Amino acid sequence: MTLFTGANSELNRAAHAGFESRFHRPAHDLWSAPGRVNLIGEHTDYNDGFVLPFAIDRRTVVALAPRPDRIVRVASSFAGDIVELTLDELAPENLHGWSAYPLGVAWALGQFGADLTTVSGFDIYIDSDVPVGAGLSSSAAIESSVALALNEVWDLNLDRPTLARVGQLAENRVVGAPTGIMDQSASLLGQINSAVFLDCRSLEAEIIPFGLDEAGLELLIIDTRVSHSHATGGYSARRQSCEAGARLMGVKALRDLSVDDLDRASTVLDEETFRRVRHIVTENQRVLDTVQVLRESGCAAIGDLLDASHVSMRDDFEISAPELDLAVVTARGAGAIGARMTGGGFGGAAIALTPTELVPTVTTAVLAAFTLAGFATPDLFVVHAADGAHRE
Ligand code: ADP
Ligand code: MG
Repeated sequence: MTLFTGANSELNRAAHAGFESRFHRPAHDLWSAPGRVNLIGEHTDYNDGFVLPFAIDRRTVVALAPRPDRIVRVASSFAGDIVELTLDELAPENLHGWSAYPLGVAWALGQFGADLTTVSGFDIYIDSDVPVGAGLSSSAAIESSVALALNEVWDLNLDRPTLARVGQLAENRVVGAPTGIMDQSASLLGQINSAVFLDCRSLEAEIIPFGLDEAGLELLIIDTRVSHSHATGGYSARRQSCEAGARLMGVKALRDLSVDDLDRASTVLDEETFRRVRHIVTENQRVLDTVQVLRESGCAAIGDLLDASHVSMRDDFEISAPELDLAVVTARGAGAIGARMTGGGFGGAAIALTPTELVPTVTTAVLAAFTLAGFATPDLFVVHAADGAHRE
């Protein structure tokens, strides 16, 4: 079990030091943005539906100093190289590898009104304690921190919902991952001890108090360390199924269907597309139900909704993995009151809503079950709902 100290200042110091050692001058300022956990609402975002993520107490920090010329350079604790371009070369076809995230954001800001022919160049160094590829959206953390930093340095005055769209555009067009708006919204709009209830059609966001402490609960992350890749494979295939389902049902997006439409869907759609559609439609309803239950009864009452979400992803959407299923079943058996895989699927992490005093029991049980199954050792840690992106 990883113990997270929550010492932001440590990460900030490391970001300053990393900037100096790579660029041989001090950084001017630091910005940071958190990763996120999705409490419920999986694959609903690109179907114009509802999601309920929260920003977590693991962050990506951007140390930045502007330059008097038109050169942009990015470095990261995550990689040994320094990537260098001019502002005139910022185009999707020139951006590759990890630097496509930060430099993709710089390009995307140009698509949202920044005049890249007049803005200043910059040096950026990135440090982070968001686990990469665990489904906690290290990608949104890097996009949102860079977007907020450049928004200030370039004096753009874009609001946070717009910065979320900037991050999404970078990820879609530059990285090439067809992801929705949820991750960036959580990273930019999150508030401490709260979840972000987001309508992915209107982009209206509402802060919903989460109240883990009061309920004596913790949210335990079980990172299976099975890597997922959004840019390829299953994620795009699921998106295509959803688009086909909406088209065949005659609606703009699956958000426009309700649970009452599922009978008709079963006669219109082939068996597999029907199951994909049923996941989205029921998952949207589960998000609405979770928000209502949180408001009326608090988070001790959402366990069944988390469980139902996992079953739907496992059986209907088929995005789980043996490691995720084992994590969920074992956590529930050891005392968690609800558990589900979270994130895009095919690997990554599960969440287990766990009574505080049972966190060690659940942790031990999951570690033992993974050993017995011959799976790689998972990483288990508790996260808290934290504030979204800000200048440090
Ligand atoms: P997730 O968002 O679930 O962590 P993704 O595959 O969407 O996984 O994004 C991970 C990618 O984002 C990494 O492979 C890397 O290219 C980039 N990335 C994330 N964090 C950093 C970082 N601190 N420095 C450099 N690149 C990063
Ligand atoms: Mg990601």
